[in-house]
Amino acid sequence: MALDQGTTSSRCIVFDRKGAQVCSAQREFRQIYPRDGWVEHDPMEIRSTQINVAQEALLKGALSFRDIAAIGVTNQRETTIVWDKATGEPVCNAIVWQCRRTAEYCDELRKRGLEEFFKERTGLLVDAYFSGTKIRWILDNVNGARRRAEAGELLFGTVETWLIWNLTKGAAHVTDISNASRTLLFNIRDLKWDAEILDILEIPASMLPEIRPSGCMYGYADADLFGGEIPIAGAAGDQQASLFGQTCFAPGDVKNTYGTGCFMLMNTGETPIRSENGLLTTVAWGLEDKVSYALEGSVFAAGAAVQWLRDEMRLIEEASDSEWMASKVSDTCGVYLVPAFVGLGAPHWDPYARGAIVGLTRGANKYHIIRAALESIAYQSLDLLEAMKSDMETSEEMRARVVSRSDAMTISSLNADGGASANNFLMQFQSDVLGVPVRRSANAETTALGAAYLAGLTSGFWEDTEEIAHNRNLDRVFLPSMRPETREMLLAGWTKSIGATRGWTKTTG
Ligand code: ADP
Repeated sequence: MALDQGTTSSRCIVFDRKGAQVCSAQREFRQIYPRDGWVEHDPMEIRSTQINVAQEALLKGALSFRDIAAIGVTNQRETTIVWDKATGEPVCNAIVWQCRRTAEYCDELRKRGLEEFFKERTGLLVDAYFSGTKIRWILDNVNGARRRAEAGELLFGTVETWLIWNLTKGAAHVTDISNASRTLLFNIRDLKWDAEILDILEIPASMLPEIRPSGCMYGYADADLFGGEIPIAGAAGDQQASLFGQTCFAPGDVKNTYGTGCFMLMNTGETPIRSENGLLTTVAWGLEDKVSYALEGSVFAAGAAVQWLRDEMRLIEEASDSEWMASKVSDTCGVYLVPAFVGLGAPHWDPYARGAIVGLTRGANKYHIIRAALESIAYQSLDLLEAMKSDMETSEEMRARVVSRSDAMTISSLNADGGASANNFLMQFQSDVLGVPVRRSANAETTALGAAYLAGLTSGFWEDTEEIAHNRNLDRVFLPSMRPETREMLLAGWTKSIGATRGWTKTTG
């Protein structure tokens, strides 16, 4: 049973041995926006919706607790909850990963020259996304919180920690290592909370959960909840769970989730690879005494560009129309669309960039623009993958490990999932510009599946990762078929159009 606690909804999916869905339930919960740029959730709602959907799923499938081998939890990452150890009462709402309230404090840390220090220790950038500065904010701004935390009365947790604590009725205050690696407090080399960082951020260590592997016996969901105890045996952050669900078990395996934005993760094996291209170094999972690492990058606007065509430009009625409309023309007639609506992320990192449509000629029509929007999703993903490749090639850690050429990681394909991966044109174009096959998963729920796999491997429901890999169902594989000259020409145009958007808000003040 996977509990998939996402940013907008809580879901529960029960899987069978073949990895097929048996039953599921889903419930949305409130998004709270107290101020511009602030985003909160009610932790009690996170808890109640998640438990309710689990009970509902059992009911729908006519299952009892006895039918469930184990529970795996996956969750929106970085979202921060602080609560009273004795009463279980949160001291304030959960501060959601998207919330920008600590952006200024992050600027201050950077001004103090600490960016490199944090990057070295945590693999992350100093950014308001990550939990560390959010905890500090709570301690500094919620009445009495710092005093109570110092007295050992308060606990911190990311969402999986909060859920497991509640499911076990307070018996387990634990975090899985992949979630720990998103807090900005976790040393990715020592695999411990970093005492110096805790000092800098003024966070008492007594608040922090115990760090555990992603696959391990965390405790038992209380019998009150499901009629009998169920072991909780797996947990991982959503993107890491999806990497696992896509069975990206080998170094060099990559998945890309095409949603509103894209999230790309590459398994780099037991080596944490430092990025020179603005990617994050993160723990993929901990399993059987081994820790696997990943490089992670995201595209800010991917499916969002398609939404923009639909809602603002009204060029399409539904997102899926973009596929046949893009296919009505054989190319974009030299048009590029750069959806830098909120600036550009890795590897360009330009918060001042803004979107553009360039290369227009008198013959350009709406089909060219729609096609250019879809192509932009593929180009941006290509830029991420190139950044990952380049980090891998230049990494000292990697060079030290790779003794012969044949040990070197190669990227042999890209595993795709997410809403926009339904678009065949996009998938084919992605494969063409990458020059490797794109494998689209048949199971859309790779995140929940990953959590279930982690739990089922630990509880012995599945034998090993090989058995799981046999379950892998591909919907379709897209093979590259573009001529190299065409590819070169298109990529040169893309690079040029990125250049045109750079620093846009800077130059115009
Ligand atoms: P999220 O989890 O970020 O909400 P989803 O995985 O549900 O995203 O995917 C939704 C996004 O994918 C939307 O931005 C939508 O515009 C885009 N999308 C959905 N279907 C298609 C399609 N057939 N072609 C292109 N884009 C699509």
